[in-house]
Amino acid sequence: MRRSTGGRLLLVLLTTCTAVGATVTVAAAAATGCRVDYTVASQWGGGFTTNVQVTNLGDPVTAWRLAFAFRADERVTQGWNATVSQSSTQVTAANASYNGSLATGAATSFGFQASVSGTHTPPASFALNGTTCTGASVPTGGPTATTPPTTAPTTAPPAGGWNPPANLVTALNQVWQHEESTYSDLYGFRNYGWDQIMANRGYVNYCVRWDSSARVTTAQRDAIHAALRRQFKKWMDVMAGHNGWPYSDVAVNIVGWAVRERAQLEWTDDSVDIYVNDIREDAPQCSAPCGRFFNQSGSYPNCPGGAAHHYDQSLWLTAGFGGGAGGDWGQRVGSEYFLGAVNQDDIHIFLHEVGHTFGLDDFYDWSPDVGGFLMKAGSATQITEFDRWMLRDWWRHLKSRYGY
Ligand SMILES: [Zn+2]
Repeated sequence: MRRSTGGRLLLVLLTTCTAVGATVTVAAAAATGCRVDYTVASQWGGGFTTNVQVTNLGDPVTAWRLAFAFRADERVTQGWNATVSQSSTQVTAANASYNGSLATGAATSFGFQASVSGTHTPPASFALNGTTCTGASVPTGGPTATTPPTTAPTTAPPAGGWNPPANLVTALNQVWQHEESTYSDLYGFRNYGWDQIMANRGYVNYCVRWDSSARVTTAQRDAIHAALRRQFKKWMDVMAGHNGWPYSDVAVNIVGWAVRERAQLEWTDDSVDIYVNDIREDAPQCSAPCGRFFNQSGSYPNCPGGAAHHYDQSLWLTAGFGGGAGGDWGQRVGSEYFLGAVNQDDIHIFLHEVGHTFGLDDFYDWSPDVGGFLMKAGSATQITEFDRWMLRDWWRHLKSRYGY
């Protein structure tokens, strides 16, 4: 049930970043046209959200476009109450269907979420319908003090297709806010199970790391493969038909086995690639040039056999290992545990670790008030309704990065 190295579930998410709220008001100083109040509503390691209020100080308009430029490497990931588009550093926000008309003196607001590698500095100027906002009175004098929020920052993702049971809404929001405030790079991270499946267009490839001195029969191999497929499918079935998720079925291909000595594997067919004595973390691994963890661009120029032989995740089975670990790299459980449970309906420790691969958190230090569930280690042995909705919530928040 342990999360992977460093106490956070993903190997590359090692640091904890506490959410810091900052309010910065930018307003120009003359008296015509328009005024923009640009507020950084929330900020965390790797991203931020804004609220932008546009006040029309000129003649009435029936449509508006607000243009501004980022100063660094900010990338807009989603917007609300406007269509926010970006080309290089240039950003344009166009009104939504319901907020295009602005009378003289009227204001409207929109917001967006963006990633950034450093600290976000608000844009220096804004133009409304091509005219630079020179503004009127300045409501507050320049950047204001930073005030940590009392709750974690939240985003306002599109609502379409999101319809959890009413009794779970509060808990789901609590979970998401907790993840936003404790993950170091929640929105910038690009190797969730989601990213892997979308990069492959609907399948996932596995390597089995046989971290044991025991031999493996062909029948055991086939049983392990079948169990892996059956368990992974339990999570993917949660997504089928939900909120634009494009895959009714996600194939699990086991493309390789890693082992210390070839003779441990009793089969002679060539149905999987076999990697011998390639040791990392004191355990056999499939070749790094074939692993997505090591090649997050998604190209595998040095993988023998090419991209078709790449693996996205490892099923790491370690002799004498208790509990489990999971992350973007795959899942690790005891080899005796997995084989002992290989025909069980729910291999629950493994299922829990797959949850981590899709971003789901642990609940050792706090828990929403929804009873037992799989991701709360020790409180359930199968995927519950709450687990299902936590998974769907990840898709809700990430799907815009794939164009959904
Ligand atoms: Zn866990």
